[in-house]
Amino acid sequence: MTDRAQQFASDNYAGICPEAWAAMAAANSASAPAYGDDEWTQRAADEFRTLFDTRCEVFFAFNGTAANSLALAALCQSYHSVICSSSSHVETDECGAPEFFSNGSKLLVAQTDSGKLTPEAIRALATSRSDIHFPKPRVVTITQPTETGQVYSIEEIRAIAATCRDLGLKLHMDGARFAHACATLDCAPADLTWRAGVDALCFGGTKNGMAAGEAIVFFDTTLATDFDYRCKQAGQLASKMRFLAAPWIGLFESGAWLRNARHANRCAARLAAAIVDISGVRLAFPVESNSVFLHASDALLEGLTGRGWRFYTFIGGSARFMFAWDAIEHRVDELANDIRFLATDKAASAG
Ligand SMILES: *Cc1c(COP(=O)(O)O)cnc(C)c1O
Repeated sequence: MTDRAQQFASDNYAGICPEAWAAMAAANSASAPAYGDDEWTQRAADEFRTLFDTRCEVFFAFNGTAANSLALAALCQSYHSVICSSSSHVETDECGAPEFFSNGSKLLVAQTDSGKLTPEAIRALATSRSDIHFPKPRVVTITQPTETGQVYSIEEIRAIAATCRDLGLKLHMDGARFAHACATLDCAPADLTWRAGVDALCFGGTKNGMAAGEAIVFFDTTLATDFDYRCKQAGQLASKMRFLAAPWIGLFESGAWLRNARHANRCAARLAAAIVDISGVRLAFPVESNSVFLHASDALLEGLTGRGWRFYTFIGGSARFMFAWDAIEHRVDELANDIRFLATDKAASAG
């Protein structure tokens, strides 16, 4: 790919990072047992146990929708409900898969501006009804970082976990960009998860430089009972599992998982810093991970499109730019320069 073509519409525009690619090539050097009965899958799961410093149970799925849906289904019965934020991926971007795979567990949606849940919002939803006619609250799911790039602090997660324990709720974390949160907070993955009270994590590999793949990590290992059957039934048991597993070994052993996330976060901060003083342009959310959401006039956004930039506006009409492991800094600067040019161009900023 030439840098001229690089776009920041999604972190999934990026290719496979060299470390993940090399690990897949290494796993491709000979035949190996199928369906996860191979040394790569075993080693990858052990890498997770080392990274998280605990005896967690680990499963590999093809994508995040499946990982989230199957993990939530494992945490509750069909008559239970799952508390999530109104902008959560499980609510807005999974086509009803969490309800489908749980055989009907209802999502209870908390309206939040930042996409973050709070102990108060959880308590309000969980205690709004206690009669037999309402699906019994059983799980809370939080996205780390949120869909708009906000990062929960360890204290915030601990407070949510304490509320969950108090109310008899399990805590699930959608970590499609979990590495980016670790990079932002510069803390041990364990501190952000099981040590803070998280029961199950979906750890995203795709947005961290892999071709495909998300890991479902159960810190409460009793919740993992029969999860392999659940994956198989859902069409998520890879027969050549080693190719879903090996990239994790490459990312973890080389440290690329954190390096990639740091680079992506730095590029988001770079764009934000370069445009913060431009009048007519405003950051829609604080930049805490690898995304920048931009409020600007329709004319300015059309001007960006006219200059060849691709971006989505599905969250509140602001333009979303996402950075991945491969983001090229001078391309980030070109985007910033184009925004500045259009904002100071009278014709474009009049709208
Ligand atoms: C990308 C993403 C996922 C996973 O999406 P898939 O396309 O199903 O892999 C899950 N949660 C969040 C917050 C995401 O951004």
